[in-house]
Amino acid sequence: LSNGIAEREKTLAMIKPDGLSGNYTDGIKKVILESGFRILRERVVQLDENGAATFYAEHSSRSFFSSLIKYMTSGPALAMVLEKENAIADWRTLIGPTDARKAKITHPHSIRAMCGLDSEKNCIHGSDSPQSAQREMSFFFKEMSSDETITTHDEL
Ligand code: ADP
Ligand code: MG
Repeated sequence: LSNGIAEREKTLAMIKPDGLSGNYTDGIKKVILESGFRILRERVVQLDENGAATFYAEHSSRSFFSSLIKYMTSGPALAMVLEKENAIADWRTLIGPTDARKAKITHPHSIRAMCGLDSEKNCIHGSDSPQSAQREMSFFFKEMSSDETITTHDEL
Protein backbone atom coordinates (compact mmCIF):
# COMPACT_ATOMS: atom_id res chain seq x y z
CA LEU A 1 0.00 0.00 0.00
CA SER A 2 1.17 3.53 -0.72
CA ASN A 3 1.01 4.52 2.95
CA GLY A 4 3.56 1.81 3.76
CA ILE A 5 1.22 -0.29 5.88
CA ALA A 6 1.23 -3.89 4.66
CA GLU A 7 -2.16 -5.31 3.76
CA ARG A 8 -2.64 -8.37 5.91
CA GLU A 9 -4.81 -11.27 4.93
CA LYS A 10 -6.36 -14.04 7.00
CA THR A 11 -6.81 -17.69 6.15
CA LEU A 12 -8.22 -20.78 7.83
CA ALA A 13 -5.78 -23.56 8.64
CA MET A 14 -6.72 -26.84 10.25
CA ILE A 15 -4.54 -29.61 11.61
CA LYS A 16 -6.64 -32.62 10.66
CA PRO A 17 -7.22 -35.62 12.99
CA ASP A 18 -4.16 -37.55 11.71
CA GLY A 19 -1.97 -34.49 12.27
CA LEU A 20 -3.16 -34.04 15.85
CA SER A 21 -3.00 -37.73 16.82
CA GLY A 22 0.40 -38.02 15.14
CA ASN A 23 1.78 -35.31 17.43
CA TYR A 24 2.66 -32.95 14.57
CA THR A 25 1.06 -29.89 16.20
CA ASP A 26 4.26 -28.38 17.65
CA GLY A 27 6.24 -28.99 14.46
CA ILE A 28 3.52 -27.45 12.31
CA LYS A 29 3.19 -24.40 14.58
CA LYS A 30 6.94 -23.90 14.41
CA VAL A 31 6.79 -23.82 10.60
CA ILE A 32 3.78 -21.44 10.74
CA LEU A 33 5.57 -18.93 12.96
CA GLU A 34 8.93 -19.23 11.20
CA SER A 35 7.15 -18.52 7.89
CA GLY A 36 5.91 -15.17 9.17
CA PHE A 37 2.28 -16.02 10.02
CA ARG A 38 0.60 -14.91 13.22
CA ILE A 39 -1.85 -17.34 14.84
CA LEU A 40 -4.82 -15.06 15.61
CA ARG A 41 -7.22 -17.73 16.85
CA GLU A 42 -7.13 -21.44 17.57
CA ARG A 43 -9.68 -23.98 18.74
CA VAL A 44 -9.73 -27.75 19.13
CA VAL A 45 -12.85 -29.10 17.42
CA GLN A 46 -14.46 -32.52 17.17
CA LEU A 47 -16.40 -32.49 13.90
CA ASP A 48 -19.56 -34.58 13.68
CA GLU A 49 -20.85 -35.96 10.35
CA ASN A 50 -23.04 -32.95 9.79
CA GLY A 51 -20.22 -30.49 10.48
CA ALA A 52 -17.71 -32.30 8.26
CA ALA A 53 -20.27 -32.57 5.44
CA THR A 54 -21.01 -28.84 5.72
CA PHE A 55 -17.33 -27.90 5.75
CA TYR A 56 -16.65 -30.07 2.67
CA ALA A 57 -20.02 -29.49 0.94
CA GLU A 58 -18.29 -28.69 -2.38
CA HIS A 59 -17.11 -32.33 -2.52
CA SER A 60 -20.46 -33.97 -1.67
CA SER A 61 -20.80 -35.66 -5.08
CA ARG A 62 -17.24 -37.02 -5.16
CA SER A 63 -16.59 -40.75 -4.76
CA PHE A 64 -14.26 -40.10 -1.81
CA PHE A 65 -16.83 -38.03 0.13
CA SER A 66 -18.01 -40.67 2.63
CA SER A 67 -14.43 -41.71 3.33
CA LEU A 68 -13.47 -38.04 3.79
CA ILE A 69 -16.28 -37.56 6.33
CA LYS A 70 -15.18 -40.67 8.23
CA TYR A 71 -11.59 -39.39 8.29
CA MET A 72 -12.52 -35.88 9.39
CA THR A 73 -14.76 -37.15 12.22
CA SER A 74 -12.24 -39.76 13.44
CA GLY A 75 -10.86 -37.51 16.18
CA PRO A 76 -10.24 -33.92 17.22
CA ALA A 77 -8.79 -31.35 14.82
CA LEU A 78 -7.20 -27.96 15.49
CA ALA A 79 -8.69 -24.99 13.63
CA MET A 80 -6.58 -21.82 13.38
CA VAL A 81 -6.87 -18.37 11.84
CA LEU A 82 -3.52 -17.34 10.35
CA GLU A 83 -2.59 -13.84 9.30
CA LYS A 84 0.13 -12.33 7.13
CA GLU A 85 0.48 -10.57 3.81
CA ASN A 86 -0.77 -12.89 1.04
CA ALA A 87 -1.74 -15.47 3.68
CA ILE A 88 -4.18 -17.49 1.56
CA ALA A 89 -1.83 -18.28 -1.34
CA ASP A 90 1.29 -18.52 0.83
CA TRP A 91 -0.35 -21.01 3.20
CA ARG A 92 -1.48 -23.18 0.26
CA THR A 93 2.11 -23.17 -1.02
CA LEU A 94 3.47 -24.07 2.41
CA ILE A 95 1.12 -27.03 2.93
CA GLY A 96 1.89 -28.48 -0.53
CA PRO A 97 -0.18 -30.56 -2.95
CA THR A 98 -3.29 -32.48 -1.87
CA ASP A 99 -1.69 -35.90 -2.38
CA ALA A 100 0.91 -36.22 0.38
CA ARG A 101 2.65 -39.04 -1.52
CA LYS A 102 3.28 -36.63 -4.39
CA ALA A 103 4.19 -33.87 -1.94
CA LYS A 104 7.02 -36.00 -0.56
CA ILE A 105 8.51 -36.14 -4.08
CA THR A 106 7.73 -32.74 -5.60
CA HIS A 107 7.53 -30.53 -2.45
CA PRO A 108 9.69 -32.31 0.17
CA HIS A 109 9.75 -29.26 2.47
CA SER A 110 5.97 -28.85 2.53
CA ILE A 111 3.87 -29.62 5.59
CA ARG A 112 1.98 -32.41 3.81
CA ALA A 113 5.31 -34.02 2.92
CA MET A 114 6.24 -33.82 6.61
CA CYS A 115 3.09 -35.32 8.15
CA GLY A 116 0.72 -36.57 5.43
CA LEU A 117 0.20 -40.11 4.19
CA ASP A 118 -1.75 -40.10 0.90
CA SER A 119 -4.37 -38.19 -1.12
CA GLU A 120 -6.88 -38.38 1.74
CA LYS A 121 -4.89 -38.39 4.97
CA ASN A 122 -2.85 -35.26 4.29
CA CYS A 123 -2.81 -33.89 7.88
CA ILE A 124 -3.51 -30.22 7.16
CA HIS A 125 -6.04 -27.91 5.51
CA GLY A 126 -5.83 -24.47 3.92
CA SER A 127 -8.53 -22.25 2.39
CA ASP A 128 -8.22 -21.98 -1.39
CA SER A 129 -9.65 -18.47 -1.98
CA PRO A 130 -10.76 -15.32 -0.12
CA GLN A 131 -14.37 -16.58 -0.34
CA SER A 132 -13.45 -19.97 1.14
CA ALA A 133 -11.34 -18.32 3.83
CA GLN A 134 -14.24 -16.12 4.93
CA ARG A 135 -16.71 -19.02 4.94
CA GLU A 136 -14.33 -21.37 6.77
CA MET A 137 -13.24 -18.80 9.39
CA SER A 138 -16.93 -18.09 10.18
CA PHE A 139 -17.62 -21.82 10.32
CA PHE A 140 -15.20 -22.35 13.21
CA PHE A 141 -15.12 -18.86 14.75
CA LYS A 142 -18.59 -17.36 15.01
CA GLU A 143 -17.17 -13.99 16.04
CA MET A 144 -15.48 -13.77 12.61
CA SER A 145 -18.72 -13.95 10.66
CA SER A 146 -18.37 -10.45 9.22
CA ASP A 147 -16.22 -9.83 6.14
CA GLU A 148 -12.81 -9.46 7.72
CA THR A 149 -10.53 -11.55 5.53
CA ILE A 150 -8.29 -8.54 4.96
CA THR A 151 -6.91 -6.17 7.57
CA THR A 152 -5.42 -2.94 6.28
CA HIS A 153 -4.27 -1.48 9.58
CA ASP A 154 -2.44 -2.75 12.65
CA GLU A 155 -4.78 -4.08 15.30
CA LEU A 156 -2.28 -4.02 18.14
P1 ADP B 1 -7.23 -29.58 -0.67
O1 ADP B 1 -7.39 -30.00 0.77
O2 ADP B 1 -5.79 -29.65 -1.12
O3 ADP B 1 -7.86 -28.26 -0.98
P2 ADP B 1 -9.48 -30.81 -2.06
O4 ADP B 1 -10.25 -29.57 -1.72
O5 ADP B 1 -9.46 -31.25 -3.47
O6 ADP B 1 -7.95 -30.69 -1.57
O7 ADP B 1 -10.04 -32.02 -1.21
C1 ADP B 1 -10.40 -31.85 0.14
C2 ADP B 1 -9.88 -33.04 0.93
O8 ADP B 1 -10.52 -34.23 0.48
C3 ADP B 1 -8.38 -33.30 0.74
O9 ADP B 1 -7.56 -32.49 1.55
C4 ADP B 1 -8.30 -34.77 1.11
O10 ADP B 1 -8.32 -34.97 2.52
C5 ADP B 1 -9.59 -35.31 0.50
N1 ADP B 1 -9.37 -35.78 -0.87
C6 ADP B 1 -9.16 -35.02 -1.98
N2 ADP B 1 -8.98 -35.76 -3.07
C7 ADP B 1 -9.08 -37.06 -2.67
C8 ADP B 1 -8.98 -38.31 -3.34
N3 ADP B 1 -8.75 -38.40 -4.65
N4 ADP B 1 -9.12 -39.44 -2.60
C9 ADP B 1 -9.37 -39.37 -1.28
N5 ADP B 1 -9.48 -38.21 -0.57
C10 ADP B 1 -9.33 -37.07 -1.27
MG1 MG C 1 -9.85 -27.66 -1.09
